[in-house]
Amino acid sequence: MNWNRIIRVLAGAAALVGVASMPVAAQVAPPAAPGIPSNPSPIGDTSAIAREAQGWLADLVRINTTNPPGNEQMAAMYIAGILNKEGIKPEILEVTPGRSAVVARLRSGVMADPSKALLLVAHVDVVGVDKSKWTVDPFGAVMKDGYLYGRGAIDDKGMLAANLAGFIALKRANVRLNRDVIFLATADEEQGGDASIKILIAKHWDKFAAGFALNEGGEVLLKNGKVQYVAVQASEKVPVNVAVIARGTSGHASRPTKDNAVVHLASAIVKIGGYSAPVHFTTIARRYFEQLAAIEDDEIGKWMRSLDASDRGEHAQKVVSDANPLWNSMMRDTIAPTMLSAGVRANVIPGEARAILNIRLLPGDTVNMLLADLTKLVSDPQIRFEIQPDAGLAAPPSSLESDFYAAITRVAEREFSNAPVLPFQSTGATDSAQLRLHNVQAYGLLPFPLTDEDFRRMHGDDERIPLASFNKGVDLLARVLAEFAVAR
Ligand SMILES: [Zn+2]
Repeated sequence: MNWNRIIRVLAGAAALVGVASMPVAAQVAPPAAPGIPSNPSPIGDTSAIAREAQGWLADLVRINTTNPPGNEQMAAMYIAGILNKEGIKPEILEVTPGRSAVVARLRSGVMADPSKALLLVAHVDVVGVDKSKWTVDPFGAVMKDGYLYGRGAIDDKGMLAANLAGFIALKRANVRLNRDVIFLATADEEQGGDASIKILIAKHWDKFAAGFALNEGGEVLLKNGKVQYVAVQASEKVPVNVAVIARGTSGHASRPTKDNAVVHLASAIVKIGGYSAPVHFTTIARRYFEQLAAIEDDEIGKWMRSLDASDRGEHAQKVVSDANPLWNSMMRDTIAPTMLSAGVRANVIPGEARAILNIRLLPGDTVNMLLADLTKLVSDPQIRFEIQPDAGLAAPPSSLESDFYAAITRVAEREFSNAPVLPFQSTGATDSAQLRLHNVQAYGLLPFPLTDEDFRRMHGDDERIPLASFNKGVDLLARVLAEFAVAR
């Protein structure tokens, strides 16, 4: 362990805590939250803590946790510093050297029941940036035009700061809890490697075992200044990478042969690119489309209601999946070729060419069944498929009948003028799958009202969060906590 470095980190974290308390609020007057009435909550008015949390978010953006390598340790220490100041005792869990999680707990009693506990989880690592495409410093936490810019502003440092705010608001309100509330900041979500929640669960489950969890993965969709719906993630697709390997005879490029591996690979990829897996609906996707049909425009709503119809079903599936890549991916396994490699010299025919397919399976589907279809489709003895070892795991969906799902629904409907709350099966993977495999009813609620344009910047250039939406998200999250975890 390098103590000089640790001391520098601590000094840096202390300085950041100092900065956090003032400049953000001074720079940005909070614009009005997007048209929402407010109701009294046992936690009280959250506008002051939301402004503080903007400062935490800005500081977290400035701590570069690009994964790989992640370096989540510094962010973990910063978070621990904030919790300590509130009189909450955090624990830093080192997962691998330099990569840590932070856990803290508000107790409901001496003998807490882990099956009732509520876990607030967010990851501190972020994906990389292409700095040349950003108009601001991706790690500068620039505040401009009512937005906070920075890698992780939405995914997932925004949620992390909001979780922290809700957790601290509970503590400050000094309310009686009916269940333990646990705060967890995780590492290595974006790569799911040696420092991920999987390892954290294997090593430290007793520190954060819970019956319920709130994580990223949902969305509050804002359109024309109004919340259209609140999607609560209760299930997710399963990522699997598959290599497509073509073999041929290597040789001098001046004498081409018919079994050229590059040509065979290219031909296979063209066929795979045109393939659509059969449609089927999981319980969550079915409920999602049923409820969404009511708020979509008449035309698409009509087709959404016909997805199962024996006569028009097939046409309806085509219309709906063509209308939106998300909807397409919610009703079938999808395949996206993402990487290609072959060749060492311009004048050498390579003996092998490879591609990677990023496959997203509906929970319950198996990659072997899909590969059986692809093998038939490609029908080329020079091509083989190789499942990569980094596949995700399929988890059972979280219940749509749980008290927690009901509490989220009640609060969200109240706060967003009866906007519908839909169950959501995300096409992307989150840490919730691992939690669901440990019997946690985990739900994804990214609590900030965001437009499609905001969502497109996640993992993209100029990621930013509207500060008004951030404040609203903090309030929503605090109200969900009040509804579910405060004793009445
Ligand atoms: Zn994320």
